[in-house]
Amino acid sequence: MPANPIVDRYRRPLRNLRISVTDRCNLRCRYCMPEAEYVWLPRRDLLTFEEISALTDVFMSLGVDKVRVTGGEPLLRRDLPDLVAMLAGKPGLRDLAMTTNGVLLADNVVALKAAGLGRVTVSLDTLRAARSKTLSQRNTHASVLEGIASVAPAGFTGTKIDTVAMRGVNDDELVDLTEFGRTVPAEVRFIEYMDVGGATAWSPDLVLSRAEMLSRLTDHYGPITPLRNTDGAPADRFELPDGTTFGIVSSTTQPFCATCDRSRLTADGMWFRCLYAVEGTNLRDPLRDGASFEELRSLITGKWTTRDDRGAVERLAERDRTPFIPLATLKSNPHLEMHTRGG
Ligand code: SAM
Ligand code: SF4
Ligand code: SF4
Repeated sequence: MPANPIVDRYRRPLRNLRISVTDRCNLRCRYCMPEAEYVWLPRRDLLTFEEISALTDVFMSLGVDKVRVTGGEPLLRRDLPDLVAMLAGKPGLRDLAMTTNGVLLADNVVALKAAGLGRVTVSLDTLRAARSKTLSQRNTHASVLEGIASVAPAGFTGTKIDTVAMRGVNDDELVDLTEFGRTVPAEVRFIEYMDVGGATAWSPDLVLSRAEMLSRLTDHYGPITPLRNTDGAPADRFELPDGTTFGIVSSTTQPFCATCDRSRLTADGMWFRCLYAVEGTNLRDPLRDGASFEELRSLITGKWTTRDDRGAVERLAERDRTPFIPLATLKSNPHLEMHTRGG
């Protein structure tokens, strides 16, 4: 059985750990990595699979029972199925998922399933190849679609497709993507464009709000019914008149910080307790210096029990909102980037 989770200052439990296994990526999505050059984490600092596994054990002893493998692009990490197998073997882990851009998915999907991965989320912002090339700055759309098509035949269920919905960019595809999700089959989740670190091209004008998304989908489909959120995921779920479900992650206009149980471990072992946090806790150094299980436990406990982050709520209160972190600051600290801390 999972441990009783420790709770933070707002009584939010420590439950959900997102593990970034690399800061590298084979795409350059304009909402995440729009710049021409990036500063990468030194390779010697990257946690080994054994180190990731050891830290996961400590987190699990404090309440974590959901783990998501992410990045950067997680499938760029060599031998990723070996890590998945190590994590999948942990008793008490209720949910083991991965978020990927899908480019390398078709080649890895069978090994990932065999290793024990529970669920896959694939990011897909458009069904149009030319638009995908503009948005991701790479010509990989066919491989992504092939990756998505490979998931169900490999035996995965509960698949999700994550779409960052942006005004004037892909907001004319909400219906097409919803229809596409049905065929996969996968539940589509529309994510509001966030002004997180790395999103240097962000502007409020580009945000398509949850309210607008619902209004556009209602115009097409008719009345939409809100569903009760049963799995604690950040997406609010809805049902179309024909029973198709979809989600909206309204991090920008209606943040869900009040129930946020997630934290993020970077590929080099920095632990961030909010997507907007500017400071994290270095777990790699104590681990490599021989800290005991109990010492790591007490370090994590001290940080979580004093957590009072509500980054997205605080951003909402901001007037004249511009990108969260200036470019010069990002360049001096790659840990502030979304692709480093794992979305
Ligand atoms: N590379 C993988 C992928 O794209 O699925 C995993 C890492 S990526 C950082 C995780 C998620 O963050 C993706 O679904 C991506 O769309 C989302 N994301 C990145 N930048 C974002 C932004 N500025 N606003 C909203 N979502 C964003
Ligand atoms: Fe795009 Fe994911 Fe890569 Fe960011 S990390 S550029 S969202 S594929
Ligand atoms: Fe959680 Fe921070 Fe996101 Fe709010 S902004 S939901 S506290 S990670």
